[in-house]
Amino acid sequence: MDLSLTETERLFRKEVRDLIATAFPPPERYDGSPDHEQRWHQALLARGWAANKWPTAFGGPGWTATQHFIWEREVTAAGLPPQVGGMGMGMLAPILFAYGSPEQQDRFLPDILHNRTRWCQGYSEPGAGSDLASLRTRAVLDGGDYVISGEKVWTSGAHRADWMFCLTRTSDEARRQDGITFLLVDMRSPGVTIFPIISLDGRHAFNRVTFDGVRTPVGNRVGREGEGWTVAKGLLTHERTGQAFVSLSTDLLGRIRDAAATLPGTDGGALLDDPGFGRRLALADIELQALAATELRTLSEVSAGGAPGAQSSVLKLKGTDIVQRMTEFFVECAGPYAAPWFPEVAGPAPDDIGPHWARREVTRYFEGRAASIAGGSDEIQRNIIAKQVLRL
Ligand SMILES: Cc1cc2nc3c(=O)[nH]c(=O)nc-3n(C[C@H](O)[C@H](O)[C@H](O)COP(=O)(O)OP(=O)(O)OC[C@H]3O[C@@H](n4cnc5c(N)ncnc54)[C@H](O)[C@@H]3O)c2cc1C
Repeated sequence: MDLSLTETERLFRKEVRDLIATAFPPPERYDGSPDHEQRWHQALLARGWAANKWPTAFGGPGWTATQHFIWEREVTAAGLPPQVGGMGMGMLAPILFAYGSPEQQDRFLPDILHNRTRWCQGYSEPGAGSDLASLRTRAVLDGGDYVISGEKVWTSGAHRADWMFCLTRTSDEARRQDGITFLLVDMRSPGVTIFPIISLDGRHAFNRVTFDGVRTPVGNRVGREGEGWTVAKGLLTHERTGQAFVSLSTDLLGRIRDAAATLPGTDGGALLDDPGFGRRLALADIELQALAATELRTLSEVSAGGAPGAQSSVLKLKGTDIVQRMTEFFVECAGPYAAPWFPEVAGPAPDDIGPHWARREVTRYFEGRAASIAGGSDEIQRNIIAKQVLRL
């Protein structure tokens, strides 16, 4: 989407570009390593932009929706993450702003900002994924502590996390959503056991986490007892708003065009000029521009203090669809060279065979499939849209 920027916004874009160039002077590019992540985070902290989505009351820079848009666009094009700090920064912090006590905010937010603690999300359980309200991990009040017993599954990054924010059942109300409580749990507590789940590609991202009489103080409850469902729903809308992938899809679109311009099409010209390929690419581009406008509208509502609501399901559903289609274009471009490569499993890649982008983009194609499930599956987003937006 082409925004006509004001002079101030153009200056802001220059500031962003300068920051990127100072942190990673060309031709150096961010490679996702811990060293690079640390360097980028330090640059963000020094500039006051580490928590760029946080409200000003909590140290955020108070950007407008357009500034957020520019930021995402510029850093994604440079291959950098828009923020460092994982689930703590992007998912838990907004909940602490809304539901956390002043003590919880003082205790947890500085460590999140400085990336000193890693958080994981303990929602899903065996038998409670889409139907999250059927969760059974039990928390019983005993003196000043909740005592937790049960099991969580698909917990991304639990093996590296210091803390978990999790949903527990504290009572069996007629309406299942009413008996759920949101707790923060120290992952080093006695009784927490982490079992790795190795995925088909050989990587260790997921875990199963069991709780056997794990104690967490009442002071680690966010919101009131039984209010966990409301807290969790707020968190999920923030998670889904972050899954529109507009900047990533925009970046991929540009690179697909570059790649297709150098590849042969069916009629002797370039693939980019092939009418069938070009028509499908143009359609994806139009849908991406519509998504970008929707995202910008949502961001401006959030900047004005609103919550994303059911709009976040539209962003997640459509954003996932478009980014997956972008990766499919790359697979089409790569042709016989379309094979994934996971360096953490297979070791450093040998010299490139085929186009230099093929290995990375085809890997992204496979990774991108999970986006239809993580944060609530496509079908669940459609159900939410049907009920809350279309009122069906
Ligand atoms: C990459 C990734 C990371 C994840 N990280 C985490 C994490 O950190 N923490 C965490 O708690 N969870 C995590 N999850 C789990 C994720 O939230 C669940 O996988 C998801 O909610 C779906 O639940 P399920 O796997 O139990 O599938 P199920 O709920 O069993 O669904 C199976 C299929 O049935 C469909 N379905 C279910 N109910 C309905 C319905 N009412 N109408 C129509 N269709 C329906 C679903 O769409 C799906 O296709 C992660 C998942 C992925 C893929």
